[in-house]
Amino acid sequence: MLPDALTFTAPAPLVDIGANLTHESFAADLDAVLERARSANVTTLILTGTERAAIESALELCERDSPVALHTTAGLHPHHASEWTPAFADWMASAAQHQRVKAIGECGLDYNRDFSSRIDQKRAFEAQLELAARTQKPLFLHERDAGVDMLDMIKQWRDDLGDAVIHCFTGEKETLYGYLDLDLHIGLTGWLCDERRGHHLRSLVRDIPANRLMVETDCPYLLPRNLPAKLKGRRHEPALLPWIVREIAHYRGESEHELSVSSTETARRFFNLPLTEDA
Ligand SMILES: [Zn+2]
Repeated sequence: MLPDALTFTAPAPLVDIGANLTHESFAADLDAVLERARSANVTTLILTGTERAAIESALELCERDSPVALHTTAGLHPHHASEWTPAFADWMASAAQHQRVKAIGECGLDYNRDFSSRIDQKRAFEAQLELAARTQKPLFLHERDAGVDMLDMIKQWRDDLGDAVIHCFTGEKETLYGYLDLDLHIGLTGWLCDERRGHHLRSLVRDIPANRLMVETDCPYLLPRNLPAKLKGRRHEPALLPWIVREIAHYRGESEHELSVSSTETARRFFNLPLTEDA
């Protein structure tokens, strides 16, 4: 249950491009979570596939009856990069062909945590760049404190790749401009609702063209700090996406309706979503 004060319906259908719904925190009440997303007008979710077990459960989830449309990405997160093996590469190549898999990723580089060595991270990332180029699926990219290497590696592959999104962008102006120059898309989360660390993003979000901006919760992580009521357990969920849209729209100087419509249109095109979905 969400407190009444947190119930907020988007003025137009939204696509949450980053939902980690296979996270254990959703196991007990997933149906309710999906219902609440629907009530909030978040009508399509792109689940985030970060490693084999998560991708397999995401694909199962996509097959169930759901009040919102479900799709997934499939990739190996940089935290898991040391698990990249020839066997995994084969499995990924076949998973990438699944019709519910709308993007390769999340993949990329994370020098903030360094859970896998940087050598392993680059190796796994390079292999996934190659897979995206080969399959011509879009890329769902993760980058923390690794903008320079990220730009470098993407540059080398750019001509062979289709669309790519830097999800949960948290970097500085120079990095953002580097990504935009490479014709990348940008995914924004509730990070900029965080007055302690998201401040710099507030002046930057205006510089992202509407046709390259998408929105996401990255739930259960990154509960926005601008919510008007406390949430027990502090678990983030797709139904809260309209609060993030509201904040981004405010700093872009546009209406929530405009941003809802443009981000959904961008997501539809980016992930090649079926036209029959009402998002
Ligand atoms: Zn990420």
